[in-house]
Amino acid sequence: MASKFLCECGYVVRTNSFEGHEIFHLISDTQVDALNNPISTDDVLDMWFESQELIKCNGCNCLHLWDQVSESYVRYVRSED
Ligand SMILES: [Zn+2]
Repeated sequence: MASKFLCECGYVVRTNSFEGHEIFHLISDTQVDALNNPISTDDVLDMWFESQELIKCNGCNCLHLWDQVSESYVRYVRSED
């Protein structure tokens, strides 16, 4: 997988944690609730590695959500409604 891609706005979005910025990981309430007490670092890291990645484009502020089925980022833009 490439470590960058071109957003539709023309901004180069970097996807690795060393060069990238505005990279987030989605973790559900269910995943957090399933952690055993006391919470171990290994369990948190496992949850983080299995989580869905979301990247904000610094060029246009849209969101790119990693789609595990198509193995590509899907772009989401803010509705002006
Ligand atoms: Zn953009």
